[in-house]
Order: sequence, then C-alpha cells, then structure tokens
Amino acid sequence: MRPFDYRRAADPAEAFAIAGREQARYLGGGTNLVDLMRQNIEAPAALIDVSRLPGTIEDTPNGGLMIGAAVRNSTLAAHPSVRARYPMLSRAILAGASAQIRNMATVGGNILQRTRCAYFYDTTGARCNKRAPGSGCDAIDGFNRYHAILGASEHCIATHPSDMCVALAALDATIHLSGPAGTRSVKLADFHQLPGAHPEVETVLQPGELITAVEIAASPAAAHSEYRKVRDRSSYAFALVSVAAGVTVAGGRIEDVRIALGGVAPKPWRAAKAEEILRGQAPEQARFLAAADAELTTARPFDRNAFKVELARRTIAAVLGGLTGVQA
Ligand code: SF4
Repeated sequence: MRPFDYRRAADPAEAFAIAGREQARYLGGGTNLVDLMRQNIEAPAALIDVSRLPGTIEDTPNGGLMIGAAVRNSTLAAHPSVRARYPMLSRAILAGASAQIRNMATVGGNILQRTRCAYFYDTTGARCNKRAPGSGCDAIDGFNRYHAILGASEHCIATHPSDMCVALAALDATIHLSGPAGTRSVKLADFHQLPGAHPEVETVLQPGELITAVEIAASPAAAHSEYRKVRDRSSYAFALVSVAAGVTVAGGRIEDVRIALGGVAPKPWRAAKAEEILRGQAPEQARFLAAADAELTTARPFDRNAFKVELARRTIAAVLGGLTGVQA
C-alpha cells in the first residue's frame, strides 16, 4: 500500500473542496476500497472520509423512503420500514458479505463496490482491461464460472457483486448525487454502465461527485417481494445467480411485477422483457418460465458458466411461484 493522506469531511461542501484540491477518493466503510489500495489496484493520494456525514432513513411525502448514503448496510436491513415495505431489500442486504462487513459497509459504498473478478485482483501478471485498459481479459478463456452471461463485451465479462443493488434495481431506485457542479439524480438502472469497449468506466459518476442518498418509491409489489441468492456456499459468497422480485395479483391477473437479476451481468440486471410478458397475465409456472426464457434469449455463456442460463431460468420461476402461490 502506498502512503496517502486521510481527511474527515464535516459536510459535503468540505468533501468537494478537499476532493477538488487533491487526487482523492471518498471513503465510506472501506470494505472494498481499502482492499483495492492494499493490492495497489487503486492508489488515491487522499481519502476523504464521508462515513460520518448525516445518514438517516426517512419517509418521503409520497410514501417512499429516502436513505442517506452513509447509512450502514446492517442498519438499513434491520429498519422496520424496510423490512415491512421492502422485504426484498432487507433480504438482499442480509444475503451479502458477513455481519461484520455489513456493520461497516455504507449504502453509497455498496453501490460503488467493484467487481470481484479474480483476474482483476491478480496483479502478478493477469491481463485485465478493467484494471489496465488495453491489456486484455484473462477471464474470457479462463476460469469464468462467476462471470457474466448478459451484457458483457469482448473486453470484459465481469459481474457486479452487490446484492443490495439488485433489489434497488427492481425497486426503480433513484440515486441522488452532489458535486462541485451542483446536485442531480440518476436512476440506478442508468448509474452503472455496461463495459463495452471501456470496462474501466463503471458508472456515470463525475469527478468529485458524491452519492448523498438513495430514494425508493412506495409500491404494492415492493411490499410483496423476495430475494433469493444461489451461491456455492451458504454464507460469505457472491451470487452465481440471484433474483429480486415483487408481484401483485388482482382478479387472477398479474397487476404489477418487478424482477432484477444479480450474478449474471456487469450491472444489476432489470428483467424488463420478462416483466412485460407477465404483466396482465394469469400467474402460471409455464408463463414464468417463458418470461425467463425471453429475458435470457440474449444470454451468451462462456466455457464454465453455461449452467447460469438454466439456473437463472429456474430461479426466476421459483421466486415468482413462491410469491404467487403457483408452484411447479
Ligand atoms: Fe478484468 Fe473484466 Fe476480464 Fe475480469 S472480466 S479480467 S475484470 S477485463
């Protein structure tokens, strides 16, 4: 690890002022950034600690929630409103990492965490376009069991590691940003970028910008929701496939449905095609599978992760079946 300066910001304005003067990174819980610094993958000249900025969870006038970026993951998962009105979000957070890490990790940091592709972390000679643009990608012909089947490119096939963000994608979350040029809001669906020819560009965050809050709207589907994570071991493992879904049924027809997938793409993957097929239809297992098939038609698996296509298909159908009481 290289020497760096450490500052604690009292408010966002001070954070921007420091960030403007130095080649700095904002520090939340440090559960990913510090690892990256230890391995010399990231080497900021300064860390601006924003973990003590005000972090609250508040009701919005339209019945949703405004969640401060500095809120700890464990606090968010345990919040009574989240558990009652957004169970998929609480369960997604609890499915991630360990209790100790969730106690440290912040909402803003979770959104900005970087891939866990092993080649990205291997600085002893592995080729990685995300870490060293233009160097190549050793995952494509390597051990790609954990890699993407949707949205990847010939330059990078890494997956986004967050569980929380999968639920936020299904919930249509909005990210509030603040920076030297002012404030703005971006849908979570538009915040993370697909790799294309530039896998080193992961988000639309501009230099000096800080995530200040995440907003989720009220919705009946959110209140009747689930998160299921399929992984190699039952704890402290990243998803092979995960599904966040919420469904409401009225008069025997699916009224509202939200589905997002994790572990299969470089960003939290909103399953819009599957939702479109299901909306207004009777809940049936055959229809759940057909919707999953439609979502997965563009899947492009690699040598070691072809199983993810069928696993995603079955997990989508199983979660929707559980939520609607229509089992296989
Ligand atoms: Fe790097 Fe992406 Fe290839 Fe992994 S998949 S080695 S992160 S370029």
